[in-house]
Parts: sequence; structure tokens; C-alpha cells
Amino acid sequence: MDTMNTTIVTLGCSKNEIDSELMMGILKNNNYKFVSSLEDADIIIINTCGFIEDAKKESIETIWKITRYKREGNCKYIILAGCLAERYPKELLEEIDEIDGIIGTGNIKDIVQLIEELKNGKNKIIRTKNINEDYIERIKRISFRPTEYVKISEGCNNFCTYCIIPKLRGKHRSRKMEDIIEEVEFLTDNGVKEIILIGQNITDYGIDLYGDYKLYELLDHLNKIEKVKWIRLLYLYPDNISERLISSIKNNQKVLKYLDIPLQHINNEILKRMNRKTTKEDIVELISKLRREIPEVVIRTTFIVGFPGESEEIFNELYSFIEEIQFDRLGVFTYSREEGTPAYSFDNQVPEKVKTDRKDKIMELQREISYSLNSKKLGNIYEVLIEEQGDENLYVGRSYMDSPEIDGIIYVSSDKKLEIGQFIKVKITDYLEYDLIGEIVDEFGK
Ligand code: SF4
Repeated sequence: MDTMNTTIVTLGCSKNEIDSELMMGILKNNNYKFVSSLEDADIIIINTCGFIEDAKKESIETIWKITRYKREGNCKYIILAGCLAERYPKELLEEIDEIDGIIGTGNIKDIVQLIEELKNGKNKIIRTKNINEDYIERIKRISFRPTEYVKISEGCNNFCTYCIIPKLRGKHRSRKMEDIIEEVEFLTDNGVKEIILIGQNITDYGIDLYGDYKLYELLDHLNKIEKVKWIRLLYLYPDNISERLISSIKNNQKVLKYLDIPLQHINNEILKRMNRKTTKEDIVELISKLRREIPEVVIRTTFIVGFPGESEEIFNELYSFIEEIQFDRLGVFTYSREEGTPAYSFDNQVPEKVKTDRKDKIMELQREISYSLNSKKLGNIYEVLIEEQGDENLYVGRSYMDSPEIDGIIYVSSDKKLEIGQFIKVKITDYLEYDLIGEIVDEFGK
């Protein structure tokens, strides 16, 4: 019976969050006890992120901060997991004495064995380079918040020239449809209301397992699960949003009319240098088709500025495109020159100052766009998922238009006590740049 107190610190994306939950599930199944405070932990697992410079910095800073628990506290073992661990296993072990073991993105199932080996005196253990490992289906989910992420696939086959993810997360692997359906039933039976489907590129779902793109069919099945309230889609690749998928999104009432479609750029020369599979013409046509077919659709996207070869003229093309299209939600990254990616050795690298200036310009533009789009929502009534209680009768929630952590929120005043996870109808009475303000209305909008 092992009673070592364990805790997991998770950095990075929602996919990492699920990996941490799986690791926790495996360890709990092997009688490891979980504590939330670092002070009380004998084992600290840091699930890192490492796909761009900023993320790497944050992971390294977090690791250094946590090493003191080993020097001064109860901590006996520090284990790194996730993308930074998969990317730099040897360097991390050599440079940071306090680290005892490394678990790669495809080696989650080895966590118990690694800890046992550490306890038997081995140290500086590396378990990586298994990036094409399949999803661990036998581990039940243990987190049942009102909103939960469900990974439907791992890895990616697109090989965008700036992206290191295929080297850290492997080739595209879909989970079996029946396993995903079973997991969503399990989560919603335990009170989860909103299911967010994620992967590196969810539009490729099924192609490896079924020889065809099957996201539309998966949505048809998930929409039939009685206890599911909302199904949200993140990380859609633009070249695979087919007619079948659009009609499935349109006709399945529980599928939110919210689409996260990272476009990365709009200039055809840059899209080609990025090895993106879509052209400007394809993207323009896709957006107008989506807005025609699903008038209330909310489109989120992300762009990269400062990619090698992005002249002032090309940047202005991107700027005008964003001005014209008026995206509901938009994020911008400055190009991060990542060793191990083809773009690392491209000519015409753009200076950092120019990159940040361009990012600031677009964020300034998007702030104005978001403010004007919000002004048109005054008086509208939306279904809102209550997520937090503020002071007295003030609550915070999200509508179908908002994904957690990356989009806006809705401030709701209500004299009635509301429950976290409750759905209510809200009439918009005021607006901010990204957020909305509203009051609770009854079923009849009163
Ligand atoms: S689609 Fe996304 S995860 Fe895949 S290579 Fe491109 S940027 Fe990376």
C-alpha cells in the first residue's frame, strides 16, 4: 500500500489537462493519494507546455519555482511530463538537478513504473519517444465540472512549417467513436453539461480509423445523448469543413453554432510557406458559406504575425482582411522561431519589435471590432451557463458565443440565487469591449 502524496501541476492547453487527469486516474488506481498543496506533496509532477518560446519560458520558470519544495520541503521526486519534457528530456535532466524523471507525451501509462524505479534507487529516468501511442481508454475520467473537454484525437498530419507539435504529439490518431460516446455519457451522467471536443485538428477525425472524415457522424451521435446540453468544437482545420459537417453542426440542436478555426494567415504566399492547405479564396468562400448556412454562427480564429517573408504590404493585406471579415473572436500570436521546424531556417526572418508592433495593431483593431459587434447584441436574449458567483447578486457566465478562458464572459445580475452549472436566460443590457452585461429574464423573456 503506497501512501505517497502526489500532486500534478498542469501548464499549457486543454489537451494537457486531460493528460494530467489520465495520469491522476492511473496513479489513483495504484493507490497513490492526491494532495492539492505543493508543500504536502512527496511527488510533484509538472505537466509542461513547450510548443512556442513563451510557453517554454513559462514552463521553465514554473519548474525552477517548484524545485525549492525538493530542496527545502517534503518533496522527494520531481517528474516532468508533457511537450517540453518530450522535446528536451536530456537537457532538462542535465540542467536542473532536482528533476528525477521525464515522462513523454506518449508515455503517460509508464508513470507508476517510473516512480517505482525511482523508489528503488534509480534516478534521472527518461521515458519518451513514444509519440504515436494511442489514447488510454481504460482510465475513467475523474473531473466533473459543468464544462469538460473531451479529446477525440491526438497528433496531427498537417506539418505546418512553423509548428513543432507533430514532432511532440505524433501523427493524427482518432479515438474510436464508441469510446468517445461512452465517455460523454459517463461525464454527463455525472453532471457535466457542456462538452468541448478537442484535438490538434478535429476535422481529421476518423480518417485514420474509418478511412473517412467522421466528425459529422460523431456529432449526430453525441447530439442524441439526453443529458448533454452543449457540444462545443475547438481546433477545426479550414480545409476540411465539409458540407456534411456544416449541415451536422446546423441541424444538431446541442452543437453550438460556435466554430474555432485557426487560419494563421491570409496571404497566399505566406500560407504556402506555412504549408497550410488552404488559399485566401478558399477561406473567404468558407466564411461566407458558414455565415450563409448558419446566420448566428460565431467564428473564432487565430493568426500568426511576423512569419518569415511577411512584408509590410503583406501585413496590411492581413489587417484589411480582418477589418473586412469582422471575426467574432480573434487571437494573435507573434511568429516563434522554433528549432526543429522547417521555418526556423527560412530567410527573411522578421525582427521581434516589428512582430510585436504588428500584433498590437491587430489586437487594437479587434478590440474596436469586438466593441462594435457587442453593441449590436443589446436587447438580445441568450442562454447562459452560470460559472461563478461574484458579489451579492452578481454572477458570471458564458453563452454559446464564448469558449472558456479564451473568450468573453457575461455579467448577470439576479435577485434569485443561482447555482453554478445552471442555465438561465439573460437579456443584454450593456456591453464592454469583450464582455457583456445582462439581467436574468424568465422563460418568456420578461
Ligand atoms: S494543424 Fe495545428 S497542430 Fe497541426 S501542424 Fe498545423 S499548427 Fe501544428
